[in-house]
Amino acid sequence: MKILCVGRNYAKHIEELANERPQSPVLFAKPETAKLPLGDDFYIPEFSQDIHYEVELLVKISKVGKHIQPKFAAKYYDEIGLGIDFTARDIQQALKEKGLPWEKAKAFDGSAVIGETWLNTSEFESVQDIHFSLQKNGRVVQEGHTGMMLWKIDELIAEVSRYFTLKIGDVIFTGTPAGVGKVEAGDRLAGFIEKKSIFTVSIR
Ligand code: ZN
Repeated sequence: MKILCVGRNYAKHIEELANERPQSPVLFAKPETAKLPLGDDFYIPEFSQDIHYEVELLVKISKVGKHIQPKFAAKYYDEIGLGIDFTARDIQQALKEKGLPWEKAKAFDGSAVIGETWLNTSEFESVQDIHFSLQKNGRVVQEGHTGMMLWKIDELIAEVSRYFTLKIGDVIFTGTPAGVGKVEAGDRLAGFIEKKSIFTVSIR
């Protein structure tokens, strides 16, 4: 499986990092080794002093596709999940300034938390009306609503599949809302879709 990620998909998060609003979705990939094994703790890597959480709604691909039109995109997924795109913000900042690729900051081992609970799309009236949140040590630090996405899920699937053939089991990270922040050893993160607990992860 591969992990494809969308950057800058929520206006308020673009503002908080003082980024430019893109003309088309920012895309990047994480290799399979980025996936944090289920139940494992996240160990802050030695190369970063500033690891940030980014909670993101996930879409799991259920059918092989390429050049998918937005109007047919809903046929290519039936499960919605939640995860964290861990980001070494200090490394990313240095790479961005030099115009270099982001892999060292975004694709390292354990950087993709993929919650073990997946919800069927039929559980939602609309995938563009889903609330999700992240708690750090019991306090809400990020709240998102898919209605606030700059590019809707079906538009993202269309865009991603222009470049990358989508295969069964691939996971798309759809971008983070505002409220990203640093983690410290000892923190405990918990992700929710609506009121449902989707994952917990301890930081070491
Ligand atoms: Zn992200």
